[in-house]
Amino acid sequence: MGCPHTCVFCNQKKIAGCFEEPTADYINKTVFSYLESFNDAKKAYVELAFYGGSFTGISESVQEELLLAASNLKKIKAIDGIRLSTRPDYINPQIVSRLKKYGVNTVELGVQSLDNDVLISSQRGHSIGDVEDAVELLKKSAIQVGIQLMPGLPQDSVEKMLRTTQRVIELKPHFVRIYPTVVIKETQLAKQLDEGLFEPLSLENAIEVSAIMFIMFSKAGIPVIRLGLQATDNLIIGKDLLAGPFHPAFGELVKSRVFRKQLEYLLAEVSLQLNNSKLFLFCNRHDISQVKGQKKANIIYFREEHNLNFMVKSRDDLDSGSIALEIENSKLPVLTRREFLNNYRIIL
Ligand code: SF4
Repeated sequence: MGCPHTCVFCNQKKIAGCFEEPTADYINKTVFSYLESFNDAKKAYVELAFYGGSFTGISESVQEELLLAASNLKKIKAIDGIRLSTRPDYINPQIVSRLKKYGVNTVELGVQSLDNDVLISSQRGHSIGDVEDAVELLKKSAIQVGIQLMPGLPQDSVEKMLRTTQRVIELKPHFVRIYPTVVIKETQLAKQLDEGLFEPLSLENAIEVSAIMFIMFSKAGIPVIRLGLQATDNLIIGKDLLAGPFHPAFGELVKSRVFRKQLEYLLAEVSLQLNNSKLFLFCNRHDISQVKGQKKANIIYFREEHNLNFMVKSRDDLDSGSIALEIENSKLPVLTRREFLNNYRIIL
C-alpha cells in the first residue's frame, strides 16, 4: 500500500508476500495469534513491523488507524516496539511527529544505492539528498534508522556498491540490510532481462561484494541484520523469481566468505612455508560450519587455490569470529575478528 512509484525491480505484492490490506482488527488478531505461538512471549522482545511497501505514503487516516492499533498494543505491553519501512522522500517533520506520537521506534528506509545513475536507472524517484535529510531527521527525533541496500541494480558496479557502502557508513544508521537485486515476475526489470538489457549479479559476485560490504559495515560498528531476501514459498526460480543471486542461505554464504578472507589475511601475515605442512584451523564451535563453508567450499578453495589442506576444529577459548592456526604442533597467535576488521583495507 501507499506507494505510487514503480521502481524497476519492485512488485510490491510479491515481495511483501501479503495480499490482505490490514485493518486495526487484523493487526490485533495477528499479534495475539503470534503471541500465543511463543513459548515464553514475556521474555522475548516483540516488535510489530509494517513492511513491504511505503507506510508513510498511505493515506493519513489509514496510517492513524494502524498506528493507533499498534500503539495500544504497546501500551498494554503486548508488544515492545513498532517498526515500519518507507521511502526516504516520505519522511518530513510532520510525518516524523506522527510516528513519535504513536511510539514508533524504528524506521527502515529503502535506500538501495547512493549512486545517482543507479537511482535514476532504477526509477527510484528520490535523490541522495532525500536519504541524507531523512536519516538526519529520524535520528534527531531519536527514532532508530535502518537502511536497506540493493547491490546489483541497473548501472551498478562493484566500485559504486562500495562507494555507496562508504557513504552509508558516514550517515551512521543503526543497522543495515543487504538484499542483492533479483528479478521478480511482472516488473520492469523482468522486461529488461527478457530484452537482454539487464544482467543480474551472479551468485558468486553477489557473495563477494556483500562480504566486502559486510566487512566495511562491521568495521564501522554498524550491524548488518539481514543478508539476502527471506525465502518464501513463491520466491523460487520458476515461480515469482526469474533470475538473480537468490539463495535461501545467502547470509551464511556471505559470513563464510568473510572467514575465507580472514584466513587469507592471517596466512599472508604469518607468511610461512606451509606446503605439505599439517594444518589445524581453530575457531569457536558455533563458527565451524561458516569456517568450513557450505559443502566445505572454503576447505576446497584453500586446497585448490593455495595448495593447503586444513583440518577445522573448535577451541573453547576462542570467541566467535576469532581464528587460530596450528602448524606442526606450533601454535600461532589468535586473529580476532576485531583485529582482522581493523587491518582490512579497502581502497576506493
Ligand atoms: S518505493 Fe519501495 S514499494 Fe514503492 S515501488 Fe519502489 S521498491 Fe516498491
